[in-house]
Amino acid sequence: ARRVVIVGAGMAGVQTAVALREQGFTGDVTLIGAEPHQPYDRPPLSKAVLLGKAEGSAFDIDFEALDIELRLGCEALGLRPGDHELDTEAGPVPYDVLVLATGAEPIQLPGSEGVPGVHLLRTLDDAERLRPVLAQQHDIVVVGAGWIGAEFATAAREAGCAVTVVEAADRPLAGALPAEVAAPMTAWYTDSGASLRTHARVERVEPGAVVLDDGTRVPAGAVVVGIGARPATAWLAGSGIELGAHREVVADSHLRTSVPDVYAVGDCASFPSGRYEERLLVHHWDNALQAPRTVAANIIGEAPVAYDPVPYFWSEQFGRFVQYVGHHAPADTTIWRGDPSGAAWTVCWLRESRLVALLAVGRPRDLAQGRRLIEAGMPMNPDILADPSRPLKDA
Ligand code: FAD
Repeated sequence: ARRVVIVGAGMAGVQTAVALREQGFTGDVTLIGAEPHQPYDRPPLSKAVLLGKAEGSAFDIDFEALDIELRLGCEALGLRPGDHELDTEAGPVPYDVLVLATGAEPIQLPGSEGVPGVHLLRTLDDAERLRPVLAQQHDIVVVGAGWIGAEFATAAREAGCAVTVVEAADRPLAGALPAEVAAPMTAWYTDSGASLRTHARVERVEPGAVVLDDGTRVPAGAVVVGIGARPATAWLAGSGIELGAHREVVADSHLRTSVPDVYAVGDCASFPSGRYEERLLVHHWDNALQAPRTVAANIIGEAPVAYDPVPYFWSEQFGRFVQYVGHHAPADTTIWRGDPSGAAWTVCWLRESRLVALLAVGRPRDLAQGRRLIEAGMPMNPDILADPSRPLKDA
């Protein structure tokens, strides 16, 4: 390929451009992004950037020195694979190889679009709009006790706001973790001084209040919606690129899409995991770091490389460092290491006797050792695993 065009200048797009250069690609690399800002990292947006502890989170990358052409503030509108052309706001862009890295968009709370005081948290602009909201110490209602909701609630409490988190499920992180693992997290909310209302569905949002389906009116100087994100792929309609059940780009194990010369990485794409024998759609930072290296290798190299990661992510919430590695299924056995009401504990998931996943709260060493054990697929001794005083690697 002479000319690689990457759509989406977030983590996955930027890392694809960088990996191409690191792996010796000498052709043209063009990175096209809809946002006007210098490419930046998202995790700090719900942490340091929100609290004003960091101004921004722009990537420390010298695009010019790497000969990566940046076209910012330019949205891709469509794709014509037959012509090997992308349509953008600024006109058509030809490519030899195209990489889709358009990430995900937050899901809006139905009926809340355009209501004053309702916020999402995905972009730098969102974070900058929310900063003064925190500084004014409004009563804040967070809709959704997922990863973003928990991190935002943490920042809002730290800023001194009164925070109510409303969650439709019976517990936080219901989509991500089993009930017994999420149960101890309920206390994190209340211990921080936030109020968590589970089984609470939002009926409607009015200026100044959120009305729940049981009729309760929760006063809200501001509302922050964190109910999930979906792949930003609407622009690909009619292009012939296969989309999956979550409207994500369906990639193969080499991260190729259904259309020749088009790859997909990051939050916008799913891929078949050989390791876990299912298709994974990962919305976490590490995937947007690792997958681009495979894409770059497959663009440059002769022999295709498969992408088959052990997924990893972290979250910082309520003064705790939460890390998860691997991938578990409902049928896997859970083993506790330590007391979940304490400050530090780990949960392990075993399939037969092998470690397949691990959630560590304040135990980064368990995470590091667990990651290697999951990768190695070694049979484990559950008794040693259950003893937090013994190193995980001895199990
Ligand atoms: P994105 O970062 O979404 O980037 C995609 C880019 O493409 C965007 O800039 C978008 O504007 C652009 N784009 C979209 N459509 C078009 C188009 N048609 N034309 C041109 N450009 C387009 N993960 C963790 O593991 N740990 C964390 O602690 C963590 N914290 C997070 C905190 C926040 C507030 C958010 C929002 C996410 C967090 N994540 C975290 C998730 C992580 O940031 C994402 O997984 C990662 O950003 C995915 O990178 P991406 O490049 O695939 O997508």
